[in-house]
Amino acid sequence: MFNKRLLIPGPAPIPPAVARAMSTEMFNHRGPRFAELIAEVTASLKRVFQTESRLFILTSSGTGAMEAAVVNFLSPGDRIVSLVNGLFGDRFASIAAAYGGNVERLESAWGEPLDYAALEARLREDKDSSIRAITVVHNESSTGMMNDLEKISRIRGDHPALLLVDTVSSMGAVDLPVDRLGVDVCFTGSQKALLLPPGLSFISASERAWKAAASSKMPKYYFNLQTAEELLKKGQTPFTPALPQFVALREALQIYFAEGRENCYARHRRMASAVRAAARALGLEPLVKEERFASPTVTAIMNPPNISGKRLQVMMLERFGIEIAGGQGALEGQIFRVGHLGAVDGLDIIAGISALEICLQLLGHPVKAGEAVGAAEEAMST
Ligand code: PLP
Repeated sequence: MFNKRLLIPGPAPIPPAVARAMSTEMFNHRGPRFAELIAEVTASLKRVFQTESRLFILTSSGTGAMEAAVVNFLSPGDRIVSLVNGLFGDRFASIAAAYGGNVERLESAWGEPLDYAALEARLREDKDSSIRAITVVHNESSTGMMNDLEKISRIRGDHPALLLVDTVSSMGAVDLPVDRLGVDVCFTGSQKALLLPPGLSFISASERAWKAAASSKMPKYYFNLQTAEELLKKGQTPFTPALPQFVALREALQIYFAEGRENCYARHRRMASAVRAAARALGLEPLVKEERFASPTVTAIMNPPNISGKRLQVMMLERFGIEIAGGQGALEGQIFRVGHLGAVDGLDIIAGISALEICLQLLGHPVKAGEAVGAAEEAMST
Protein backbone atom coordinates (compact mmCIF):
# COMPACT_ATOMS: atom_id res chain seq x y z
CA MET A 1 0.00 0.00 0.00
CA PHE A 2 1.70 3.22 -1.11
CA ASN A 3 -0.83 5.83 -0.07
CA LYS A 4 -2.63 5.53 3.20
CA ARG A 5 -5.49 7.84 3.91
CA LEU A 6 -6.63 8.50 7.42
CA LEU A 7 -10.30 9.47 7.22
CA ILE A 8 -11.15 9.07 10.89
CA PRO A 9 -12.37 11.90 13.15
CA GLY A 10 -8.90 12.37 14.64
CA PRO A 11 -6.07 12.04 14.98
CA ALA A 12 -6.23 13.71 11.59
CA PRO A 13 -3.49 13.71 8.96
CA ILE A 14 -0.79 16.35 9.35
CA PRO A 15 1.25 18.19 6.70
CA PRO A 16 4.73 16.72 6.04
CA ALA A 17 6.37 19.95 7.24
CA VAL A 18 4.65 19.56 10.62
CA ALA A 19 5.87 15.95 10.90
CA ARG A 20 9.41 17.12 10.08
CA ALA A 21 9.21 19.88 12.67
CA MET A 22 8.53 17.20 15.29
CA SER A 23 11.99 15.73 14.88
CA THR A 24 13.63 18.57 16.76
CA GLU A 25 16.62 18.48 19.05
CA MET A 26 15.68 19.04 22.69
CA PHE A 27 16.18 22.37 24.32
CA ASN A 28 15.72 23.97 27.71
CA HIS A 29 12.04 24.47 28.44
CA ARG A 30 13.01 27.13 30.98
CA GLY A 31 15.23 29.06 28.59
CA PRO A 32 14.74 31.93 26.14
CA ARG A 33 14.05 29.71 23.10
CA PHE A 34 10.97 28.23 24.72
CA ALA A 35 9.84 31.60 26.10
CA GLU A 36 9.88 33.05 22.61
CA LEU A 37 8.11 30.00 21.17
CA ILE A 38 5.29 29.91 23.71
CA ALA A 39 4.68 33.66 23.35
CA GLU A 40 4.40 33.34 19.57
CA VAL A 41 2.16 30.28 19.47
CA THR A 42 -0.09 31.54 22.27
CA ALA A 43 -0.68 34.78 20.36
CA SER A 44 -1.42 32.84 17.14
CA LEU A 45 -3.82 30.50 18.90
CA LYS A 46 -5.73 33.49 20.23
CA ARG A 47 -6.30 34.46 16.59
CA VAL A 48 -7.60 30.96 15.86
CA PHE A 49 -9.93 31.20 18.87
CA GLN A 50 -10.78 34.83 18.02
CA THR A 51 -10.24 35.76 21.62
CA GLU A 52 -8.36 38.44 23.47
CA SER A 53 -8.71 36.61 26.76
CA ARG A 54 -6.28 34.28 28.47
CA LEU A 55 -5.27 31.17 26.61
CA PHE A 56 -3.18 28.29 27.90
CA ILE A 57 -1.43 25.44 26.15
CA LEU A 58 -1.53 22.20 28.09
CA THR A 59 0.48 19.06 27.50
CA SER A 60 -2.51 16.74 27.47
CA SER A 61 -5.11 15.24 25.20
CA GLY A 62 -8.47 16.98 24.75
CA THR A 63 -9.92 15.27 27.79
CA GLY A 64 -7.27 16.93 29.95
CA ALA A 65 -8.53 20.30 28.80
CA MET A 66 -12.09 19.15 29.49
CA GLU A 67 -11.04 18.37 33.04
CA ALA A 68 -9.27 21.74 33.29
CA ALA A 69 -12.46 23.47 32.12
CA VAL A 70 -14.36 21.91 35.00
CA VAL A 71 -11.93 22.01 37.92
CA ASN A 72 -10.64 25.56 37.50
CA PHE A 73 -13.92 27.45 37.51
CA LEU A 74 -16.30 25.51 39.73
CA SER A 75 -16.71 24.16 43.23
CA PRO A 76 -18.15 20.91 44.58
CA GLY A 77 -21.94 21.22 44.88
CA ASP A 78 -22.23 23.80 42.10
CA ARG A 79 -25.28 23.29 39.93
CA ILE A 80 -24.16 22.53 36.37
CA VAL A 81 -26.45 22.02 33.38
CA SER A 82 -24.87 19.59 30.92
CA LEU A 83 -26.22 19.38 27.39
CA VAL A 84 -25.72 15.84 26.17
CA ASN A 85 -26.39 14.37 22.72
CA GLY A 86 -23.38 12.14 22.25
CA LEU A 87 -20.39 10.46 23.81
CA PHE A 88 -18.34 13.57 24.47
CA GLY A 89 -21.23 15.53 25.96
CA ASP A 90 -21.68 12.57 28.26
CA ARG A 91 -17.98 12.63 29.15
CA PHE A 92 -18.10 16.35 29.96
CA ALA A 93 -21.05 15.77 32.32
CA SER A 94 -19.30 12.78 33.91
CA ILE A 95 -16.14 14.75 34.64
CA ALA A 96 -18.19 17.54 36.22
CA ALA A 97 -19.99 14.96 38.38
CA ALA A 98 -16.73 13.17 39.27
CA TYR A 99 -15.44 16.41 40.80
CA GLY A 100 -18.57 16.87 42.89
CA GLY A 101 -20.63 19.07 40.57
CA ASN A 102 -24.39 18.88 41.01
CA VAL A 103 -24.98 17.94 37.38
CA GLU A 104 -28.36 18.19 35.67
CA ARG A 105 -28.22 16.50 32.29
CA LEU A 106 -30.42 17.77 29.49
CA GLU A 107 -30.20 14.75 27.24
CA SER A 108 -31.29 14.17 23.67
CA ALA A 109 -30.89 11.00 21.67
CA TRP A 110 -27.45 10.66 20.10
CA GLY A 111 -27.67 12.16 16.63
CA GLU A 112 -30.65 14.36 17.53
CA PRO A 113 -30.42 18.13 18.10
CA LEU A 114 -30.00 19.38 21.64
CA ASP A 115 -33.10 20.31 23.57
CA TYR A 116 -32.70 24.08 23.26
CA ALA A 117 -36.21 24.71 24.56
CA ALA A 118 -35.48 22.75 27.73
CA LEU A 119 -32.34 24.79 28.33
CA GLU A 120 -34.29 28.00 27.86
CA ALA A 121 -37.00 26.85 30.27
CA ARG A 122 -34.46 25.67 32.85
CA LEU A 123 -32.60 28.99 32.84
CA ARG A 124 -35.84 30.96 32.98
CA GLU A 125 -37.01 29.13 36.08
CA ASP A 126 -33.62 29.56 37.77
CA LYS A 127 -34.68 32.82 39.44
CA ASP A 128 -31.92 32.81 42.05
CA SER A 129 -29.20 32.08 39.46
CA SER A 130 -28.20 28.86 41.17
CA ILE A 131 -26.90 27.38 37.89
CA ARG A 132 -23.18 28.10 37.81
CA ALA A 133 -22.27 26.59 34.46
CA ILE A 134 -23.53 25.10 31.22
CA THR A 135 -21.39 22.46 29.52
CA VAL A 136 -21.75 21.70 25.84
CA VAL A 137 -19.83 19.99 23.07
CA HIS A 138 -19.88 22.17 19.98
CA ASN A 139 -19.18 19.41 17.48
CA GLU A 140 -20.17 15.93 18.64
CA SER A 141 -17.57 13.75 16.94
CA SER A 142 -19.47 10.63 17.98
CA THR A 143 -22.49 11.56 15.84
CA GLY A 144 -21.38 14.22 13.36
CA MET A 145 -23.77 16.73 14.91
CA MET A 146 -22.73 20.35 15.19
CA ASN A 147 -24.64 21.94 18.02
CA ASP A 148 -25.85 25.51 17.66
CA LEU A 149 -23.52 27.53 19.84
CA GLU A 150 -24.89 30.85 18.69
CA LYS A 151 -28.33 29.78 19.89
CA ILE A 152 -27.03 28.48 23.21
CA SER A 153 -25.20 31.73 23.76
CA ARG A 154 -28.41 33.67 23.00
CA ILE A 155 -30.41 31.46 25.36
CA ARG A 156 -27.86 31.93 28.13
CA GLY A 157 -28.25 35.69 27.58
CA ASP A 158 -27.41 37.55 30.76
CA HIS A 159 -27.84 34.57 33.05
CA PRO A 160 -24.55 34.47 35.01
CA ALA A 161 -23.89 30.77 34.32
CA LEU A 162 -20.51 30.23 32.71
CA LEU A 163 -20.61 28.72 29.24
CA LEU A 164 -18.02 25.93 29.00
CA VAL A 165 -17.55 24.65 25.46
CA ASP A 166 -15.72 21.68 23.99
CA THR A 167 -14.54 22.59 20.49
CA VAL A 168 -12.14 19.67 20.20
CA SER A 169 -13.28 18.64 16.73
CA SER A 170 -14.37 22.03 15.41
CA MET A 171 -11.90 24.73 16.42
CA GLY A 172 -10.00 25.84 13.35
CA ALA A 173 -12.40 24.19 10.89
CA VAL A 174 -15.40 26.39 11.68
CA ASP A 175 -15.83 30.08 12.36
CA LEU A 176 -15.87 30.12 16.16
CA PRO A 177 -15.56 33.66 17.50
CA VAL A 178 -15.13 32.79 21.16
CA ASP A 179 -15.35 36.36 22.50
CA ARG A 180 -18.25 37.40 20.31
CA LEU A 181 -20.21 34.30 21.28
CA GLY A 182 -19.58 34.98 24.96
CA VAL A 183 -18.00 31.57 25.49
CA ASP A 184 -16.38 31.68 28.91
CA VAL A 185 -14.20 28.62 28.69
CA CYS A 186 -13.32 27.09 25.35
CA PHE A 187 -10.96 24.22 24.70
CA THR A 188 -9.71 22.10 21.85
CA GLY A 189 -7.17 19.40 21.13
CA SER A 190 -4.19 19.50 18.80
CA GLN A 191 -4.96 16.38 16.79
CA LYS A 192 -8.10 17.44 14.94
CA ALA A 193 -8.42 20.43 12.63
CA LEU A 194 -5.25 22.20 13.74
CA LEU A 195 -2.83 20.12 11.67
CA LEU A 196 -0.95 18.66 14.62
CA PRO A 197 -0.34 15.29 16.23
CA PRO A 198 -2.05 14.52 19.54
CA GLY A 199 -0.42 15.70 22.73
CA LEU A 200 -1.43 19.32 23.27
CA SER A 201 -4.67 20.98 24.21
CA PHE A 202 -5.61 24.65 24.24
CA ILE A 203 -8.00 26.38 26.61
CA SER A 204 -9.21 29.96 26.84
CA ALA A 205 -10.88 31.68 29.78
CA SER A 206 -12.95 34.88 29.71
CA GLU A 207 -12.62 37.61 32.36
CA ARG A 208 -15.82 36.35 33.98
CA ALA A 209 -14.43 32.82 34.11
CA TRP A 210 -11.17 34.10 35.52
CA LYS A 211 -13.02 35.86 38.35
CA ALA A 212 -14.85 32.61 39.09
CA ALA A 213 -11.52 30.77 39.12
CA ALA A 214 -10.42 32.78 42.15
CA SER A 215 -13.12 31.15 44.29
CA SER A 216 -13.10 27.67 42.69
CA LYS A 217 -12.75 24.89 45.23
CA MET A 218 -12.60 21.80 43.06
CA PRO A 219 -9.33 19.92 43.61
CA LYS A 220 -6.67 20.46 40.96
CA TYR A 221 -2.93 20.22 40.54
CA TYR A 222 -1.59 19.34 37.07
CA PHE A 223 -4.34 21.38 35.40
CA ASN A 224 -4.27 24.37 37.76
CA LEU A 225 -4.56 27.31 35.37
CA GLN A 226 -3.60 29.89 38.01
CA THR A 227 -0.21 28.18 38.20
CA ALA A 228 -0.10 28.09 34.39
CA GLU A 229 -0.78 31.85 34.34
CA GLU A 230 2.08 32.57 36.76
CA LEU A 231 4.52 30.51 34.74
CA LEU A 232 3.32 31.87 31.39
CA LYS A 233 4.38 35.34 32.56
CA LYS A 234 7.93 33.94 32.63
CA GLY A 235 7.53 32.20 29.25
CA GLN A 236 7.20 28.78 30.82
CA THR A 237 4.72 26.04 31.68
CA PRO A 238 4.36 24.57 35.19
CA PHE A 239 5.58 21.15 34.09
CA THR A 240 7.73 19.81 31.25
CA PRO A 241 5.92 20.63 28.01
CA ALA A 242 5.78 18.30 24.97
CA LEU A 243 8.57 20.18 23.18
CA PRO A 244 8.30 18.50 19.76
CA GLN A 245 4.59 19.33 19.66
CA PHE A 246 5.30 22.95 20.57
CA VAL A 247 7.82 23.24 17.73
CA ALA A 248 5.35 21.59 15.36
CA LEU A 249 2.63 23.95 16.58
CA ARG A 250 4.51 26.96 15.25
CA GLU A 251 4.80 25.27 11.84
CA ALA A 252 1.16 24.14 11.85
CA LEU A 253 -0.14 27.61 12.68
CA GLN A 254 1.95 29.14 9.91
CA ILE A 255 0.43 26.66 7.45
CA TYR A 256 -3.03 27.29 8.89
CA PHE A 257 -2.82 31.05 8.43
CA ALA A 258 -1.20 30.67 5.00
CA GLU A 259 -4.32 28.77 3.88
CA GLY A 260 -6.41 31.42 5.58
CA ARG A 261 -9.18 30.94 8.10
CA GLU A 262 -12.03 31.45 5.65
CA ASN A 263 -10.50 29.11 3.06
CA CYS A 264 -10.01 26.48 5.72
CA TYR A 265 -13.64 26.75 6.85
CA ALA A 266 -14.80 26.52 3.22
CA ARG A 267 -12.60 23.46 2.56
CA HIS A 268 -14.16 21.64 5.50
CA ARG A 269 -17.68 22.61 4.43
CA ARG A 270 -17.03 21.36 0.89
CA MET A 271 -15.67 18.03 2.09
CA ALA A 272 -18.64 17.53 4.42
CA SER A 273 -21.19 18.25 1.73
CA ALA A 274 -19.38 15.91 -0.67
CA VAL A 275 -19.55 13.05 1.84
CA ARG A 276 -23.22 13.67 2.56
CA ALA A 277 -24.05 13.87 -1.15
CA ALA A 278 -22.18 10.62 -1.76
CA ALA A 279 -24.02 8.88 1.08
CA ARG A 280 -27.36 9.89 -0.36
CA ALA A 281 -26.31 8.79 -3.87
CA LEU A 282 -25.48 5.39 -2.38
CA GLY A 283 -28.90 5.19 -0.77
CA LEU A 284 -27.37 5.54 2.68
CA GLU A 285 -28.66 7.73 5.44
CA PRO A 286 -26.55 10.26 7.30
CA LEU A 287 -27.24 9.96 11.04
CA VAL A 288 -27.76 13.73 11.28
CA LYS A 289 -30.75 14.50 9.12
CA GLU A 290 -30.81 18.28 8.99
CA GLU A 291 -28.15 19.97 6.89
CA ARG A 292 -27.90 22.91 9.28
CA PHE A 293 -26.68 20.56 12.03
CA ALA A 294 -24.27 18.60 9.84
CA SER A 295 -20.72 18.71 11.09
CA PRO A 296 -18.11 20.08 8.69
CA THR A 297 -15.45 17.75 10.16
CA VAL A 298 -17.07 14.35 10.64
CA THR A 299 -20.00 12.59 9.00
CA ALA A 300 -21.73 9.59 10.55
CA ILE A 301 -23.60 7.33 8.15
CA MET A 302 -25.99 4.53 9.06
CA ASN A 303 -24.61 1.10 8.19
CA PRO A 304 -26.27 -0.27 5.06
CA PRO A 305 -28.91 -2.91 5.78
CA ASN A 306 -27.39 -6.37 6.26
CA ILE A 307 -23.83 -5.13 5.89
CA SER A 308 -21.47 -5.07 8.84
CA GLY A 309 -19.85 -1.69 9.30
CA LYS A 310 -16.82 -3.47 10.73
CA ARG A 311 -16.41 -5.53 7.54
CA LEU A 312 -16.70 -2.40 5.46
CA GLN A 313 -14.02 -0.69 7.56
CA VAL A 314 -11.65 -3.65 7.24
CA MET A 315 -12.18 -3.92 3.47
CA MET A 316 -11.58 -0.19 2.94
CA LEU A 317 -8.33 -0.48 4.85
CA GLU A 318 -7.07 -3.71 3.36
CA ARG A 319 -7.90 -2.95 -0.26
CA PHE A 320 -7.32 0.77 -0.41
CA GLY A 321 -5.41 1.87 2.70
CA ILE A 322 -8.33 4.05 3.66
CA GLU A 323 -9.20 4.18 7.31
CA ILE A 324 -12.68 5.14 8.41
CA ALA A 325 -14.14 4.82 11.91
CA GLY A 326 -17.00 2.88 13.44
CA GLY A 327 -19.61 4.03 15.92
CA GLN A 328 -18.83 4.65 19.58
CA GLY A 329 -20.77 3.77 22.70
CA ALA A 330 -24.50 3.47 22.01
CA LEU A 331 -23.90 3.80 18.25
CA GLU A 332 -21.39 0.97 17.96
CA GLY A 333 -22.42 -1.39 15.15
CA GLN A 334 -24.97 1.10 13.80
CA ILE A 335 -22.92 3.70 11.97
CA PHE A 336 -19.61 4.32 10.29
CA ARG A 337 -17.90 7.67 10.47
CA VAL A 338 -15.82 9.53 7.93
CA GLY A 339 -13.48 12.19 9.25
CA HIS A 340 -12.75 15.10 6.92
CA LEU A 341 -10.59 17.40 8.95
CA GLY A 342 -7.05 18.63 9.29
CA ALA A 343 -4.73 17.99 6.37
CA VAL A 344 -7.37 16.23 4.28
CA ASP A 345 -8.27 17.62 0.90
CA GLY A 346 -10.96 17.18 -1.70
CA LEU A 347 -9.18 14.42 -3.60
CA ASP A 348 -8.67 12.39 -0.41
CA ILE A 349 -12.43 12.52 -0.03
CA ILE A 350 -13.07 11.56 -3.66
CA ALA A 351 -10.65 8.65 -3.22
CA GLY A 352 -12.46 7.61 -0.04
CA ILE A 353 -15.84 7.73 -1.75
CA SER A 354 -14.60 5.79 -4.74
CA ALA A 355 -13.27 3.10 -2.39
CA LEU A 356 -16.57 3.14 -0.52
CA GLU A 357 -18.48 2.53 -3.76
CA ILE A 358 -16.27 -0.41 -4.67
CA CYS A 359 -16.34 -1.98 -1.21
CA LEU A 360 -20.09 -1.60 -0.83
CA GLN A 361 -20.59 -3.23 -4.21
CA LEU A 362 -18.35 -6.12 -3.20
CA LEU A 363 -20.36 -6.49 -0.02
CA GLY A 364 -23.60 -6.77 -1.96
CA HIS A 365 -25.02 -3.26 -1.65
CA PRO A 366 -26.59 -2.03 -4.90
CA VAL A 367 -24.19 0.54 -6.33
CA LYS A 368 -24.04 2.21 -9.71
CA ALA A 369 -20.35 2.76 -10.36
CA GLY A 370 -19.37 6.41 -10.26
CA GLU A 371 -22.68 7.74 -9.00
CA ALA A 372 -21.51 8.63 -5.52
CA VAL A 373 -18.23 10.01 -6.82
CA GLY A 374 -20.19 12.14 -9.29
CA ALA A 375 -22.46 13.43 -6.54
CA ALA A 376 -19.45 14.26 -4.39
CA GLU A 377 -17.71 16.07 -7.23
CA GLU A 378 -20.81 18.10 -7.88
CA ALA A 379 -21.17 19.00 -4.20
CA MET A 380 -17.54 19.95 -4.07
CA SER A 381 -17.66 22.23 -7.03
CA THR A 382 -20.55 24.39 -5.84
N1 PLP B 1 -14.29 16.06 22.74
C1 PLP B 1 -14.50 15.76 21.45
C2 PLP B 1 -15.60 16.45 20.70
C3 PLP B 1 -13.70 14.81 20.81
O1 PLP B 1 -13.90 14.51 19.51
C4 PLP B 1 -12.66 14.17 21.54
C5 PLP B 1 -11.82 13.15 20.91
O2 PLP B 1 -12.14 12.54 19.92
C6 PLP B 1 -12.49 14.53 22.88
C7 PLP B 1 -13.32 15.46 23.44
C8 PLP B 1 -11.46 13.89 23.71
O3 PLP B 1 -10.19 14.20 23.25
P1 PLP B 1 -8.95 13.26 23.57
O4 PLP B 1 -9.24 11.93 22.95
O5 PLP B 1 -7.83 14.01 22.89
O6 PLP B 1 -8.80 13.20 25.03
